[in-house]
Amino acid sequence: MKLAKRVSALTPSTTLEITAKAQELKAQGYDVIGLGAGEPDFNTPQHIMDAAYQAMLAGHTKYTPTGGLATLKKEIISKLERDQQLSYEPTEVIVCNGAKHALYTLFQVILDEGDEVIIPTPYWVSYPEQVKLAEGVPVFVEGKEENEFKITPEQLKAAITEKTKAVIINSPSNPTGMIYSENELKALGEVCVEHNLVIVSDEIYEKLVYGDAKHVSIAQLSPELKELTVIINGVSKSHSMTGWRIGYAVGNKTLIKAMTNLASHSTSNPTSIAQYATIAAYQQPQDAVEEMREAFESRLNIIYDKLIQIPGFSCIKPQGAFYLFPNAQEAAVLAGYETVDEWTKALLEEEKVALVPGSGFGAPNNVRLSYATSLEQLEKALERIQAFMEKKM
Ligand code: PLP
Repeated sequence: MKLAKRVSALTPSTTLEITAKAQELKAQGYDVIGLGAGEPDFNTPQHIMDAAYQAMLAGHTKYTPTGGLATLKKEIISKLERDQQLSYEPTEVIVCNGAKHALYTLFQVILDEGDEVIIPTPYWVSYPEQVKLAEGVPVFVEGKEENEFKITPEQLKAAITEKTKAVIINSPSNPTGMIYSENELKALGEVCVEHNLVIVSDEIYEKLVYGDAKHVSIAQLSPELKELTVIINGVSKSHSMTGWRIGYAVGNKTLIKAMTNLASHSTSNPTSIAQYATIAAYQQPQDAVEEMREAFESRLNIIYDKLIQIPGFSCIKPQGAFYLFPNAQEAAVLAGYETVDEWTKALLEEEKVALVPGSGFGAPNNVRLSYATSLEQLEKALERIQAFMEKKM
């Protein structure tokens, strides 16, 4: 069957591709270690699951308002006040079916054909595809490794044309784990204000920050920046709730109203019981969030030191999220491969370790390892990578 142009232009997700290949090998009986996961390996905290069950028993199994339950919007507003000292009205909040869906809906309502969106590389795989689905044009700006994969105000300025509508900032970043400092955000913000750009601030990894690093939202930095920014966040990564599909967008009320109209004709509302679970996630103590963060940080510290010992690997230590994004170009060459993609494929076939090649994130010299898996598995994976390199050199 002939499909619409808009879907034939979609690039399949490299993360899902490698996961599928790893699953195929697993099904053949191989002991595969997958470090491709984009989700916490912990179960959702018990009190959140209890709240969902209680919601079902209480009959909250029906449609809800499209933009989310009033109580949930209130909790999101309190969270933003508590964590970011930002104040919003309920009309400035929409609850969606995950942060991914919030982003999708946002691009649908702000982009006309040919409008450009500046996407710093390395980027999360869905940004360019979502922009294209809204008939927009992704414009990539390289976050150079020597600048911790971050873009500079000069680079941003140089990429702006009369068609530029928005810029995406994802801090902490997937895949690099880097965080923009307050000063860096201020400098980028000045350019955005000057050119009246919508700032899409994806803060989904906000709660996963390590060492001295601190998460700041660009919306906090001035009233002008707050007006231009749409904050995207959710509970998938912070509360280990990826399967519940609750995320949200917060920003200008006209834009949120348009997003709500669109959602009313596409999803009607996010799942009612997942919304009740999210109310509990925000209302009750955040101990579980902190416990998970500590577990990620301790894994990071252990495996980072081991990773940089592997021949041909160099890696900037991540400040947040749960990914390492080493440069493996030299490792590929040492092992006799022309590209990191080929090296990654051979590693999976020969040593049964699944990493995600950086090419899918716009950074072909790197690979992404997720440490959202047990320390035992992580250490075993690193031993196998080490053995693979020794065998090949
Ligand atoms: N933004 C980034 C940078 C992500 O890595 C992810 C998930 O992998 C999302 C958004 C989507 O999160 P959600 O599960 O809330 O849709």
